[in-house]
Amino acid sequence: MNENTYSIIGDFHTHTLVSQHAYSTIGELVEASIKRGFQAIAITDHGPEMLDGAISHHFLCMDALPRTVGGIRLYRGAEVNIKTFSGRIDLPDSILRNLDFTIASFHIEAIIPGSEDDHTAAWLAVVRNPYVDCMGHAGNPLYPFDHEQVIKEVKKQGKTMEINANSFLVRKGSEENCAHMIRLCKAYEVPVMVNSDAHNAWTIGEVTPALKLLEQEDFPPELILNHTFEGICSFIQRRKGEKQQAL
Ligand SMILES: [Zn+2]
Ligand SMILES: [Zn+2]
Repeated sequence: MNENTYSIIGDFHTHTLVSQHAYSTIGELVEASIKRGFQAIAITDHGPEMLDGAISHHFLCMDALPRTVGGIRLYRGAEVNIKTFSGRIDLPDSILRNLDFTIASFHIEAIIPGSEDDHTAAWLAVVRNPYVDCMGHAGNPLYPFDHEQVIKEVKKQGKTMEINANSFLVRKGSEENCAHMIRLCKAYEVPVMVNSDAHNAWTIGEVTPALKLLEQEDFPPELILNHTFEGICSFIQRRKGEKQQAL
């Protein structure tokens, strides 16, 4: 791979038909990833407090899955729902501790938007939660927050901000927010992840608008965690150790 281009080596925000508003199996997502030449994928179905999210037992039993399939790395993950402005999320620490990768996100189905201060407080608490790795589709204009304060905390806690390509399609107004977050992440050297949030196998790895925006902002490719296999593997490995120490 050309290290200087804007590209990803795997999609780390994907949904299977375990969430009924998504339409493919893990096998189909893996197959699509292999076809794209990816080296890894994370399966991150919705937490149980979304209407059709996976039950908590789904996440508890993910260690039944193989670590590699068809030559690519399969990471066990979740997209948990932020449920309160104090930062409560909808899976217990005991389950999150054993997952490889956890995204936390605001969803309209799980929490009614509040004030900017409410969302900022929620994000700060979530960023400090030792079991959360990535702040999901934070560009959503329904949940405005103080970008600078939160991004500085993401840096401090060694976490990552997601630039979610699906937001540009389904969360209108996200692009401007993402551009602002990208500028701050560049300024504070905060790593980002670029993911599709695919809800079917045909959109795995479809992140072109997000990569274009990063390129427009002259964002350093080396700060995109899933730009290289080594980059994302070492992040997940470090976070794994931190989760075990948080006991
Ligand atoms: Zn989401
Ligand atoms: Zn999602």
